[in-house]
Amino acid sequence: MIYDVAVIGAGVIGGLTARELTKYKLSVVLLEKESDVACGASKANSGIIHGGFDPEPDTLKAKLNSTGVDKLYKTAQMLHVPHKNNGSFVCAFSKKEEAHLKELYDRGIENGIEKMSIISGDEARAIEPNLSPEITAVLNVPTAGIICPYELTIAAVGNAMKNGAVLLTDFTVTSIINDGCFNVSSADGRCVKARYVINCAGCYGDKIAAMVGDDSFEIIPRAGQYILLDKKEGARVSHTIFQVPSKEGKGILVSPTVDGNLLTGPTAEAVDCPMCVNTTPEGLETVQRLAAKSVPSVQFREVITSFCGVRSSEKNGDFIIEESKAQKGFINVAAIDSPGLTSSVAIAEYTVEVLKNAGLELELNPDFDGTREDPHFFRHLTDEEKNEYIKKNPAYGKIICRCETVTEGEIRDAIRRDPKPQDIDGVKRRTRSGMGRCQGGFCKPFVMKLLAEENGCKMEDVTKNGKTSQMVLGKL
Ligand SMILES: Cc1cc2nc3c(=O)[nH]c(=O)nc-3n(C[C@H](O)[C@H](O)[C@H](O)COP(=O)(O)OP(=O)(O)OC[C@H]3O[C@@H](n4cnc5c(N)ncnc54)[C@H](O)[C@@H]3O)c2cc1C
Repeated sequence: MIYDVAVIGAGVIGGLTARELTKYKLSVVLLEKESDVACGASKANSGIIHGGFDPEPDTLKAKLNSTGVDKLYKTAQMLHVPHKNNGSFVCAFSKKEEAHLKELYDRGIENGIEKMSIISGDEARAIEPNLSPEITAVLNVPTAGIICPYELTIAAVGNAMKNGAVLLTDFTVTSIINDGCFNVSSADGRCVKARYVINCAGCYGDKIAAMVGDDSFEIIPRAGQYILLDKKEGARVSHTIFQVPSKEGKGILVSPTVDGNLLTGPTAEAVDCPMCVNTTPEGLETVQRLAAKSVPSVQFREVITSFCGVRSSEKNGDFIIEESKAQKGFINVAAIDSPGLTSSVAIAEYTVEVLKNAGLELELNPDFDGTREDPHFFRHLTDEEKNEYIKKNPAYGKIICRCETVTEGEIRDAIRRDPKPQDIDGVKRRTRSGMGRCQGGFCKPFVMKLLAEENGCKMEDVTKNGKTSQMVLGKL
């Protein structure tokens, strides 16, 4: 079969692009090198819906960020993705930084951002009592928010599959040959044919473009390290607290997450390759020091975990979304660093426009259903609803993850729902099993058993995150 479109990379951009394509009568295949979706930058970022004051006016970033905010809130509602419009504060600590705040405000106005205001440090502390007494002024951006980035990706891919898209995992694209249509081959010998190819490979975007002779851009990987704190710290602030951004990035933030934790980070460090996702003592020390500058009372002894994500940046600083000059029918969606998550729905729509201009004929799919069933997390149900669930399915009465109150019923449902998780981390991203205080110390063996039962394999075959990451070697 020859697909109309092959999308390479099942991050938030590839996932939402595949979903957008299923709004039309097109055959779509999504190719991902990992065993699950959302394994790149889309699983390890700040999860902030940026207001849109930061990008340089008249850039793609400015356009897709400012139009993307509303589109993202609406899509998150349709797909039942946890999100919250909590607003953001950008804090200045001196007269010089206050001047910078005014520049950001003016840039925001130029980018069409509404409802922003500059308030004094005291006004900000009246709203957020834990802010540092050193803060002299704050840019208040009420349209900003927070969202679960991996849940958005999972929901987008699931919805694309519901509308006919095909997902192929463990498909590492190693060559692309055009002999009238694109032959996209994987490391394990599989080959997919498609009329058009969209390159959404994140940090590997330049490597994929090079496969069709396009060396017009180079991805510069930039790591960001984080410290995630327990829910005890989750109410330390209600807004997302930024410092004045620099050329290096948006600075260290302190923010509640949609799940009620407190997130601090990220650093911004050039790294050699996209695989450099290790945290370092220096990086984590920087996060602590700068987070405490904005919110001195943060209790870092309540740390749950630390992690690192890698941005795919490019020297010109803007998103690259265009048909390749080296190869007709090949579309690059590359250098999607921050605010890529915020802009993701707008990027998907823009990419389909680029495809249309490249010659793809689009006829609306009358059967498209852009909604996803609510996964109904047990911990969010009322006692009455919980009893109803348990009556219908007793597996909802068995708690597997004590820290996050995740039931066997939810885990089994998640393993059966597209895109189906194959490993422990996949279940964790879908249900939060293992994301609590004990980080899976208690629930992991139970999740392994459920994965083995549902997928008809042995416990020894269950992996942490695909390939050769088996959890156990065999029975003692
Ligand atoms: C530290 C950090 C903080 C950020 N904070 C924010 C924020 O708060 N708000 C915001 O709006 N944005 C933020 N971003 C940006 C946002 O995370 C990204 O823009 C977005 O996740 C990019 O998605 P993607 O799908 O392009 O990339 P990815 O999620 O990296 O997906 C690319 C996919 O391609 C796959 N792939 C690669 N090579 C191949 C191959 N050869 N064959 C098959 N598949 C392949 C990868 O496995 C991966 O799954 C942040 C990013 C980072 C790293």
